[in-house]
Amino acid sequence: RGNAEKFEFQAEVSRLMDIIINSLYSNKDIFLRELISNASDALDKIRFLSLTDKTVLGEGDESKLDIHIKLDKEKKILTIRDTGIGMTKEDLIKNLGTIAKSGTSAFLEQMQKGGDLNLIGQFGVGFYSVYLVADYVEVVSKHNDDKQYIWESKADGNFAVIEDTENEPLGRGTEIRIHLKEEASEYAQEDKLRELVKKYSEFINFPIYLWSSKEVDVEVPVDEDEEADKETPSDSTEEEEIVEDEEDEEKKPKTKTIKETKWDWELLNDVKAVWLRNPKDVTPEEYDKFYHSLAKDFSTEKPMSWTHFNAEGDVEFKAVLFIPPTAPYDLFENYYSNTAMLKLYVRRVFISDEFDELLPKYLSFLKGIVDSDTLPLNVSREMLQQHSSLKTIKKKLVRKALDMIRRIVDEDPDEKFEEKESSEDKEEVSAEKKGKYAKFWKEFGKAIKLGIIEDATNRVRLAKLLRFHSSKSGDSLTSLDQYISRMKPGQKQIYYITGQDRKQLEKSPFLEKLLNKGYEVIYLTDAIDEYLTQNLTEYDDKKFQNASKDDLNIGSKDEKAKFKEVKESYKELTKWWKDLLVNENVESVKVSKRLANTPGVVVTSKFGWSANMERIMQAQTL
Ligand code: ADP
Ligand code: MG
Repeated sequence: RGNAEKFEFQAEVSRLMDIIINSLYSNKDIFLRELISNASDALDKIRFLSLTDKTVLGEGDESKLDIHIKLDKEKKILTIRDTGIGMTKEDLIKNLGTIAKSGTSAFLEQMQKGGDLNLIGQFGVGFYSVYLVADYVEVVSKHNDDKQYIWESKADGNFAVIEDTENEPLGRGTEIRIHLKEEASEYAQEDKLRELVKKYSEFINFPIYLWSSKEVDVEVPVDEDEEADKETPSDSTEEEEIVEDEEDEEKKPKTKTIKETKWDWELLNDVKAVWLRNPKDVTPEEYDKFYHSLAKDFSTEKPMSWTHFNAEGDVEFKAVLFIPPTAPYDLFENYYSNTAMLKLYVRRVFISDEFDELLPKYLSFLKGIVDSDTLPLNVSREMLQQHSSLKTIKKKLVRKALDMIRRIVDEDPDEKFEEKESSEDKEEVSAEKKGKYAKFWKEFGKAIKLGIIEDATNRVRLAKLLRFHSSKSGDSLTSLDQYISRMKPGQKQIYYITGQDRKQLEKSPFLEKLLNKGYEVIYLTDAIDEYLTQNLTEYDDKKFQNASKDDLNIGSKDEKAKFKEVKESYKELTKWWKDLLVNENVESVKVSKRLANTPGVVVTSKFGWSANMERIMQAQTL
């Protein structure tokens, strides 16, 4: 359109579009679910606004909240129309020309290396996937606050926006017109579109209609003259069946049934929400699919686990929580700025997926939905955020989430370290459950540690989920309960040592005596472990003891008496040494009980930072 206002795409968008339009990526299907997901988001937004102001919905077709898909086979144009919130001129320029979300460059890099476009929806750039199948796209949009506009682009680095004076008014909402590329002609078939919607958009909570044809039987009166013609054999190839009702021949006009092609809107999805169904009636496959659509994760990996429950009592809600198959790329990088991705509904109306109040930070890796019957519908998001029921909901969600994690442990045969009675009746364990907790730990173990630091209420429950390498764990991991089950008679403390890696720790002189005497020592090699041990000081009435601190106290009564003697006899030496090192930040010089072969070590006092902590703090301030 010559007289339209022209704009250049933000550089990142241009790069992304280049990659997409030239992509040889075989799974072009994803564009449809991205556009449907955008339509659904837009519908959620207007429905939310309508809670406080009914007039926003209007009175025409736009008052129905739905999605319509239509094909123009001749022109090869696919149209997706929604009655969602729509976009103002400013929205069109901002939303379809720039990328707001961070992490886009990381995504671009992955894409250039031939990464999986399937993840596009998680990066806030799903719209541009339309250029997998289009060489030209028009977006017609009408927002309540503005006139109707057309956005258009041929993915050549530019886009244009112009007031729409040529199309019929939309009322409200957005229509995306996709001019299909030559090589994307498969999407110009209703069967293909129907299949894709059923496969990927099954759990969209608004009706999705497809303009499609059906062969139907229709009865039509038989024209007497025509019938007369028929009786003489003709070369007509028209398929028709003449229905003759012999008895009533006189009274009723003759009719015939013919096949006719009828066009109509066909409903493609079943909008009954999964979380409202009885968990007993939902199949594992349905949960898997629901997870994929909820998390916008269309990889082939299944979620690790889920929990679906109905909370009753003062605060009523239904919820489904999932543990994803893998941790998102930025889970711990942006830990404090991430928001928990649970979707909050109030009586089936989507409210928000950015509420901090539903889950504590450390559980923000969970995906899921919460639908509350107790929360009020007609208040602002801000007011909801402060509602007292949220606290109760959060508490229950945390409990259920921890139960779900605990269940992975309980069902994993690799986690059974004691001879349990049940192991005798040789229950068949599915291969899927074996080693599952180790996988969970690898992906989300850090979250459990963060939980111990942040969530004092559930500290014990979380501590049960901890896994470590130790001097006795070999290649596998050990739990605190396992450690305790191996403790030597009379051992009162849980010994651990912190450092950068296990190999180095295994050789540490701090451990010589301990290991010689057969004590087990836990190796802590995560930076976060230093904070962990500050918050978790005991477990099952046993204190944690850092083997590199000067309060390490091991040995029998006899040894203790002998040690006292030795200490006395070296008093002069230690005093001389301390005076010598007084300017070197040395607090004291002592005779050690921890060494076997090494002549001396530098240790930290009980209340000081360990050498490892010093290293971490230095790394942070540099
Ligand atoms: P995301 O959906 O993750 O935000 P997209 O690239 O899919 O990223 O869409 C970018 C933005 O464009 C959306 O956030 C929304 O503001 C706007 N948008 C896209 N499609 C529609 C639509 N059908 N109706 C209203 N706004 C839309
Ligand atoms: Mg999107």
